[in-house]
Amino acid sequence: MLIPFLDLKKINLRHEQAIIDGVNQVLHSGWYILGNSVKAFENEFAEFCGTNYCLGVANGLDALELIIHAYGIGPGDEVIVPSNTYIASILSISANGAIPVLVEPDLLTYNLDPSKIEESITTRTKAILVVHLYGQSCDMNPIREIANRHNLKIVEDCAQAHGAEYGDKRVGNLGDAAAFSFYPGKNLGALGDGGAITTNDEVLYKQIMALRNYGSHRKYENLYKGYNSRLDELQAPILSEKLKWLEQDNERRREVASYYSKNIINPEVILPTVQHSPKSHVWHLFVVRVNDREHFMDYMNRNGIQTMIHYPIPPHKQEAYEEWNDLTYPISEQIHAEVVSLPISPVIEIEEVERVVEVVNEYRSY
Ligand SMILES: *Cc1c(COP(=O)(O)O)cnc(C)c1O
Repeated sequence: MLIPFLDLKKINLRHEQAIIDGVNQVLHSGWYILGNSVKAFENEFAEFCGTNYCLGVANGLDALELIIHAYGIGPGDEVIVPSNTYIASILSISANGAIPVLVEPDLLTYNLDPSKIEESITTRTKAILVVHLYGQSCDMNPIREIANRHNLKIVEDCAQAHGAEYGDKRVGNLGDAAAFSFYPGKNLGALGDGGAITTNDEVLYKQIMALRNYGSHRKYENLYKGYNSRLDELQAPILSEKLKWLEQDNERRREVASYYSKNIINPEVILPTVQHSPKSHVWHLFVVRVNDREHFMDYMNRNGIQTMIHYPIPPHKQEAYEEWNDLTYPISEQIHAEVVSLPISPVIEIEEVERVVEVVNEYRSY
């Protein structure tokens, strides 16, 4: 038995007929950019997140970049961002000419450590970019207090956390504006690139509505030096269909995660920590930590189980950020050296989950 890390084909074939019908509907509408399908999905996704507004854009990185641009954050400004996030969060700040200020995460939750934020705030700080990493919502109450105290915007990177809750709200509705990605492997994934912005800020909404479309609010009139970043009309009905299944799929991920957490018993394998209620985590990834990672992955592979690393190189050690290469962020470095992701998805079979547990439990580094 070979257990793949993620079987995207199996996930999407559950919706085969609905996908064909959706594509057909767009074909026959004769309207292929920012049409009724995108509008419908935007409304459904805003309702799902509990926000007043949603805008479909081309991808998750653009969603973040557009928000930062629209808030007027640029050269000379600083944005707080976790030191262990996926590189796109950081690129969205650099792309606007602003300075990413890396803050260390909590070793147990992998999310931004609120107690470390304030020491990094300067007079140039404009926003905190929180990332609900691996699917777990950040500890937003203390972060909101800090943002209020210093008059900072909170931008959420929800690319891995569609549907995760915090208190009585969902991510996407916990800050001033939020970015989502619908990259195929995400909890809500398209058959190509896609992204969205959710917000309750009407001014921001109107600005980004123009910014994503050449900066134009009326045809051939341009308010801003804009972008071309729109959610593809063909992806919209696919996303609408898959959105109907999202809660159920996230629940299935929770069952798998809970099975792993209860049954993996191996002192060499450190399990992930859920900080708040069970629904605060949607398990985009099930990330464990081991000491001798290469050995562990090799062993898993020999036993027919595919694992992945999210992520192998910390942002400050990337060549693209040469100016940071001599800095040290010890927690982030430890995380990047030790993390391994086990297979998890809404379509993984119970026998596969049992097999993963069995193999992990028999692992010995010596
Ligand atoms: C996937 C991802 C992004 C980027 O989304 P794209 O749609 O691939 O541009 C941004 N941030 C995080 C945390 C992600 O996982």
